[in-house]
Amino acid sequence: RSRGYTNARYLKEVYEALTTCAMKIEEVKSTTKTQRVATHSHVKGLGLDEDGSAAPNAAGLVGQEKAREACGVVVELIRTKKMAGRALLLAGAPGTGKTALALAIAHELGPKVPFCPMVGSEVYSSEVKKTEVLMENFRRAIGLRIKETKEVYEGEVAELIPEETESPLGGYGKTVSHVVIGLKTTKGTKQLKLDPSIYEAIQKEKITPGDVIYIEANSGAVKRVGRSDAYATEFDLEAEEYVPLPKGDVHKKKEIVQDVTLHDLDLANARPQGGQDLVAMMGQMMKPKKTEITEKLRAEINKVVNKYIDQGIAELVPGVLFVDEVHMLDIECFTYLNRALESTLAPIVVFATNRGMCTVRGTEVIAPHGVPVDLLDRLMIIRTIPYGLEEIVQIVAIRAQIEGIKVDDDAFALLGEIGERSTLRYAVQLLTPSWVLVQTNGRDMITRDDIDEIDGLFFDAKASAKMLMEKQAAYLQ
Ligand code: ATP
Repeated sequence: RSRGYTNARYLKEVYEALTTCAMKIEEVKSTTKTQRVATHSHVKGLGLDEDGSAAPNAAGLVGQEKAREACGVVVELIRTKKMAGRALLLAGAPGTGKTALALAIAHELGPKVPFCPMVGSEVYSSEVKKTEVLMENFRRAIGLRIKETKEVYEGEVAELIPEETESPLGGYGKTVSHVVIGLKTTKGTKQLKLDPSIYEAIQKEKITPGDVIYIEANSGAVKRVGRSDAYATEFDLEAEEYVPLPKGDVHKKKEIVQDVTLHDLDLANARPQGGQDLVAMMGQMMKPKKTEITEKLRAEINKVVNKYIDQGIAELVPGVLFVDEVHMLDIECFTYLNRALESTLAPIVVFATNRGMCTVRGTEVIAPHGVPVDLLDRLMIIRTIPYGLEEIVQIVAIRAQIEGIKVDDDAFALLGEIGERSTLRYAVQLLTPSWVLVQTNGRDMITRDDIDEIDGLFFDAKASAKMLMEKQAAYLQ
């Protein structure tokens, strides 16, 4: 009311908002953080036998048998819906496969289960509230499988019926008012008179009497018209232009399944920021348009989603939210997480840390892993242990194969030693620069010398820290 809304206008906007939500599902683009999971693309599952025991090297995972078996139990708890309100904590040194394990859990839960990785420190931004960042990631980890049955009719345009209308400049002119088509249905061909808006669409495609067209409908309402049923030349019609088609006598049915996340839906339906006032408009001219996902928008999306679930059109697919370096979160985040875990729309949350006892950020309290006791109480904790030389070599070999990098046995052995001395991640990361070096030299196989050379050029984290300690005096304090 403060904006001078009448009830009717308000209702119209709400109606429009809801219909756009329903429409925009078709346009959503996936916002999965593919880049961050790219290094784990070889992980296909936990690699467990029927009886739940881990094979030494299966489904892309090597070693870490105990942790994998424990993760298997967690997967079973999730499947039998016994994980509600609880979460998982993976505790272990960096590069012990915590991310890989969390991703494996998501794979075990099903083929299109979302996996959203984030790092605790990501919540700190000068522009976005901490809880907002957490909420966004929660919604990235909740999937929705939308099943839509589309009815497809085939029809032959029979007639374009003209109507006399007064032109704005006076005088009469002829425009087409209706389109008559012979529509093929399960009960034979029916003559159907479609309104002028369809004609406009048909005109755009230069369809004339005698041409065959395809009409896609949803619950008997026209959605698209095109020349082929792949809708290569498709046009969308607005909701109010829907024309009822003969209900129940469909020509052909197509089931279309689409997997999206709640965040995909939020983003697709977010409006450009700013009101209509001059300052806001000027702001928009200066900056590229930003989309804003408001709480109100999320509530609307949830409403539509719930409606779809009730109608059996959509199914919720809770995914896995992986929060690395959980000790970086502060008490405000933990309070939020405690509440969010209770929600009916919660993903499976997997935390990871490499810390022991430390202060809970934002408090003076010292707690295991920097996690407050009330959240700790809800956690199932799994330890990950450092890899042995043999395991490191096997993991590096899997990555080399996936990336199409050729490495000889001696080089693998050295990579294993390097991995043991520094971290697995460092060893894996040497592959690409070494490959670049080899290719620059016109060879096609990485040798021990190449690894040695590249290793000499870079510092792994431990070596870098050691050097800083030794040469402290030479650096600005
Ligand atoms: P963490 O999260 O504990 O730091 P991570 O899973 O991120 O570990 P990285 O240190 O990034 O592991 O490991 C480097 C590479 O080794 C990644 O490609 C990762 O997928 C892979 N990897 C780690 N553990 C295993 C494992 N047990 N089996 C196969 N690949 C693994």
